[in-house]
Amino acid sequence: MSQQFDVVIIGAGAAGLMCAFQAGQRGLSVLLIDHARKLAEKIRISGGGRCNFTNIYARPEAFLCQNPHFVKSALARYTAADFIDLVTRHDIPFHEKKLGQLFCDRSAQDIIDMLIENCHQAGVTLRTGCAVTQVTPTNGLYEVVTESGHISATSLVIATGGLSIPKIGATGFGYDIARQFGLALVPQRAGLVPLTFTDEMKQRCAVLSGLSVDALVSAGKTEFEEGMLFTHRGLSGPSILQISSYWRESEQLTVNLAPEHRIGDSLKADKKQHPKQTIHTALSQVLPKRLAADILASAQMEGRLADCADKQLAALGDLINDWHISPSGTEGYRTAEVTLGGVDTDALDARTMQARSHEGLYFIGEVVDVTGHLGGYNFQWAWSSGYICAEALAAR
Ligand SMILES: Cc1cc2nc3c(=O)[nH]c(=O)nc-3n(C[C@H](O)[C@H](O)[C@H](O)COP(=O)(O)OP(=O)(O)OC[C@H]3O[C@@H](n4cnc5c(N)ncnc54)[C@H](O)[C@@H]3O)c2cc1C
Repeated sequence: MSQQFDVVIIGAGAAGLMCAFQAGQRGLSVLLIDHARKLAEKIRISGGGRCNFTNIYARPEAFLCQNPHFVKSALARYTAADFIDLVTRHDIPFHEKKLGQLFCDRSAQDIIDMLIENCHQAGVTLRTGCAVTQVTPTNGLYEVVTESGHISATSLVIATGGLSIPKIGATGFGYDIARQFGLALVPQRAGLVPLTFTDEMKQRCAVLSGLSVDALVSAGKTEFEEGMLFTHRGLSGPSILQISSYWRESEQLTVNLAPEHRIGDSLKADKKQHPKQTIHTALSQVLPKRLAADILASAQMEGRLADCADKQLAALGDLINDWHISPSGTEGYRTAEVTLGGVDTDALDARTMQARSHEGLYFIGEVVDVTGHLGGYNFQWAWSSGYICAEALAAR
């Protein structure tokens, strides 16, 4: 005997939970399944435990997708203001950290509790620790075989997310379902991820590990100015995580370690005014001392400004304002915040998230080829895509 629901949602993360309670509130019978025992683990670990749940400047330009127009409908119909309203109605205290990024004052658990409470109130049936072994379309219904029995539903929503952080339950299940139903996939790769090096940079980064500076990092015409952190394996921090989503293997990146200064010019001026000053002292006025020492060692420069030729100072300035680095790779899905690529948006209707070729089959959240910048955009995509999907489910 199989149980029957209007909707089965596979994946009880951000998008799945939002879609489930919105559909339940519209009178649909909803089963929300997750193979993990604990719900929404990614929300729990997000934003350093405080969940950067949206960004007040959420806009289509902050998303990577092969079709840059795809996100527009969802973002316009369920906005950051809508989610802020939900959070406010649940008396969850929050604050803006910077650049429109909203975080919980207390903990990410507030967001999880809010979503689960809404699911309970909307009559959603939650089944955790439940693996799905097979999905089959039969007579206009979707048959879902799980470890704990057969289920059939009029609509099936895939909300299983991407591949990042496999140890808390990420799988490629959503991509397998897309393949099974003949939907195209955009190749996946890790995004918002630290960059690694194998050359002498690895050694330099290890020596500087723990040091953070403000840097302007660019890949072609795309640039981000935020913090950059040296780690034992390479580079991290917001500016590096952001650019990692644009970086392609074997490409160079450009780093400006002192975006507010033209170092070559200012060192030449310093040389005129304070010729006896050491170059390390002069450089330490704009860069952390450890970093200044490392750059001077790599440029094989030392001593007083007076002893440095203007040409040398100009070349040193280029090393700081226009530093070219060649990452060897990324830390991969082990630490990546997101997965780039996924279900090709050409295969989906942007107003409903339904597969164009299969009535009743929907894909929402990170499993789709939509990836936000760092700063609350990825959760906003999960909320927006989950919401418009629920509206479409109710309209079927
Ligand atoms: C460390 C970290 C910090 C982050 N911080 C932020 C942040 O502060 N702000 C922000 O906007 N974004 C952040 N993100 C990104 C954000 O967490 C994701 O983009 C978002 O969770 C995607 O939502 P989703 O519902 O599509 O997928 P997920 O939240 O990943 O949910 C997918 C669910 O599907 C389940 N699942 C997977 N495979 C199966 C299967 N075979 N059967 C059944 N269930 C399955 C998983 O267990 C999971 O519960 C962060 C990500 C990480 C890794």
